[in-house]
Amino acid sequence: PLNFKEKDPALWGAIAQEEQRQEDTIELIASENIVSHAVRTAQGSVLTNKYAEGYPGKRYYGGTQYIDVVEQLAIDRAKELFHAEYANVQPHSGSQANQAVYAAFLKPGDTILGMSLDAGGHLTHGSKVNFSGKLYQTYGYDLNPDTERLDFAAIRALALKVQPKMIVAGASAYSRTIDWQAFRAIADEVGAYLMVDMAHIAGLVAAGLHPSPVGIADVVTTTTHKTLRGPRGGLILSQEKYAKQLNSAVFPGTQGGPLEHVIAGKAAAFFEDLQPDFKDYAQRIIDNASAMAAAFEDLPMVRVVSGGTDNHLMTLDLSATGLNGKQAQDLLDSVLITTNKEAIPNETLSPFKTSGIRLGTPAITTRGFTPADCRQVAKLIVDTLSHPDDKAVLDRVRSQVRDLTAAHPLTVLP
Ligand code: PLP
Repeated sequence: PLNFKEKDPALWGAIAQEEQRQEDTIELIASENIVSHAVRTAQGSVLTNKYAEGYPGKRYYGGTQYIDVVEQLAIDRAKELFHAEYANVQPHSGSQANQAVYAAFLKPGDTILGMSLDAGGHLTHGSKVNFSGKLYQTYGYDLNPDTERLDFAAIRALALKVQPKMIVAGASAYSRTIDWQAFRAIADEVGAYLMVDMAHIAGLVAAGLHPSPVGIADVVTTTTHKTLRGPRGGLILSQEKYAKQLNSAVFPGTQGGPLEHVIAGKAAAFFEDLQPDFKDYAQRIIDNASAMAAAFEDLPMVRVVSGGTDNHLMTLDLSATGLNGKQAQDLLDSVLITTNKEAIPNETLSPFKTSGIRLGTPAITTRGFTPADCRQVAKLIVDTLSHPDDKAVLDRVRSQVRDLTAAHPLTVLP
């Protein structure tokens, strides 16, 4: 916009530099993506000016006739996309969606059983440093140490022991298909609610490429900015019978005015997610991740946790490289490959170090990376991690990264 650059060069400059950084780097953070022009336009619109506490048709402020249209479009599209009876598009983030669900179904002190952080769960699934672990009595289930996959016999045994009021399924770093029915059976046996947080895989679910938890879980939450390729935000899906308690848990329970500009961005993203080519995109995400995981399996020094991936991400165990996750993340940053450190199952290092990194393909697939590109990326990562002090190798990797990013310019979708 006119004058922004001249009036506030410090802020403008930082945004411009971030744009260039995104252009120049291979983005492998599994929870990130690149949104379309439509999503950005909606989010940058005048809707940010408007207060609209309440829900469509029932607002606490005047002048909401067009806001109602926007929010209803987002709700209707979310319901259509996931074949859900009920959708709440107001949560400001994935964490706030989860907070509202707990508030709707639980009282402080009630017991939650979720995936532990080390195993790949999210902070809001009961971590002691998060509100969920402070407000509720929380227990974490781990992966089977041999298969590094969900172990339903162990989860069932833990559920029988701790008698949770709610079981949380879903993860931030789990590369395998999740059997929602197996969680449902355990929840039914112990009389618990089942919440599924499908934040990472929601785009794959929308495309029909991962089984849907909708209709199996009592309530499903997700973020809208990962594989769904929308603005940063949250979404709750459920059945009509829980509509009232969920709506009031979001507003006035845990939030004030909804971010209607972000909700417009969600509506724009859901529209795109409903188009036939989104299924093709989601399939390419999976094909790219499979190609990358298979390439790592053939390379020395690194190990893919659980031996591969069924979805968009994988965790690499770096124990054999002599580098911890933080060192690997920094080293890869230096060659323009963006990742994040990640705990591996049975982690022995602190969350600030970790023994792994997590890699995902949603963003590079949006840019048009192919399975062949992904095999090359795997090779560049292993070259880097196995030559941390070899300037010639690191320079060569950086230049190959530049070739790849130049071949796939940051696509701003229509
Ligand atoms: N749930 C899962 C499974 C996640 O991976 C994340 C984000 O990393 C969240 C919830 C939280 O989302 P947000 O960062 O929008 O609060």
